[in-house]
Amino acid sequence: MTTFPAIRITRDEATKKTAAALVDFPEAELMDGDVTVAVEWSTVNYKDGLAVTGRSPVVRRFPMIPGIDFAGTVLTSAHPDFASGDAVILNGWGVGETHLGGYAARARVKGDWLIKRPAGLSARAAMAIGTAGYTAMLSVLALEKAGVTPAHGPAVVTGAAGGVGSVAIALLAKRGWHVIAVTGRAETEGDYLKSLGAAEILDRAELAGPAKPLAKERWAAGIDAAGSHVLANVLSMTRYGGAVAACGLAAGMDLPTSVAPFILRGVSLLGIDSVMAPKPLREAAYARLVTDLDLGTLEAMTREIALTDVFTVAEDILAGKVRGRLVVKVA
Ligand code: NDP
Repeated sequence: MTTFPAIRITRDEATKKTAAALVDFPEAELMDGDVTVAVEWSTVNYKDGLAVTGRSPVVRRFPMIPGIDFAGTVLTSAHPDFASGDAVILNGWGVGETHLGGYAARARVKGDWLIKRPAGLSARAAMAIGTAGYTAMLSVLALEKAGVTPAHGPAVVTGAAGGVGSVAIALLAKRGWHVIAVTGRAETEGDYLKSLGAAEILDRAELAGPAKPLAKERWAAGIDAAGSHVLANVLSMTRYGGAVAACGLAAGMDLPTSVAPFILRGVSLLGIDSVMAPKPLREAAYARLVTDLDLGTLEAMTREIALTDVFTVAEDILAGKVRGRLVVKVA
């Protein structure tokens, strides 16, 4: 029987408790798909933290191999767009939630879910970007589509020292935005955030309480990884005609706001979903990541770990202790 190393999550049906362990996973138990990939790199995103710890019911099939993204090389393909040897990237589509995921040396998926890895981006760099960085890029593209530019005023980024936030800062700064980084870790992460391109650091505590319907206008654009009161405050402080991309829920799933920013200031709230994003949008996001994200800056925000480290860092990412991005060496 052919097996490969993988993290497997199982659930005790009596207690409903889940447990994650490194195992030799039988290749015969891979799920259906028309492309089999030798996975080289994966990453730890916030959602992976939820899956591995069992803190939130993101996994809906057991046993599950977590890991919502991976980069690797096609081994076999029955899909017309892919052939053995192609370098590919996968983000989302329920992988690591309903379909066996990236914390494994092998993955079998639908070819429709894969994109070709762009030239100039190594598999490791693709996963240093990971779903967090690709989501940051989707957010920047959404702001651009909404018509806001650096000429309109500053851009605010919440969850700044996390994965989405770190990449968002680097991308916005590169395009000439005056970036205001909102963090709960100003003392320890201030210099780091400035090294990514942040012009100002704002203490998260200033945005943590209930928001007024409208507050003093402070920025023209925002990328919010936090949700809840943080997003409500970001909206209430957005300038006339500005736009905010909502992509995360690190502070909570709720949004205790009013319609005031929308109907009195013409502010737009832009929803960002990376999981089911159509392929052309994914390809556009990666094309822009290749041109806009400095690889030295990416490396400076990235820590490499092994599959065996995933269990510990899954706890850390939920505790808001991870700086930037974590890339997982799978094979
Ligand atoms: P990280 O854990 O790397 O970053 C989250 C950051 O949020 C933390 O580093 C911290 O930054 C900040 N934070 C933590 N707790 C709180 C809190 N209580 N209130 C306010 N801010 C807080 O996660 P990722 O960057 O991987 O993901 C960020 C969010 O984006 C998550 O909610 C994730 O689920 C979501 N996401 C959504 C996607 C989509 O498709 N829409 C795709 C990818 C991610 P600091 O210490 O600087 O304040």
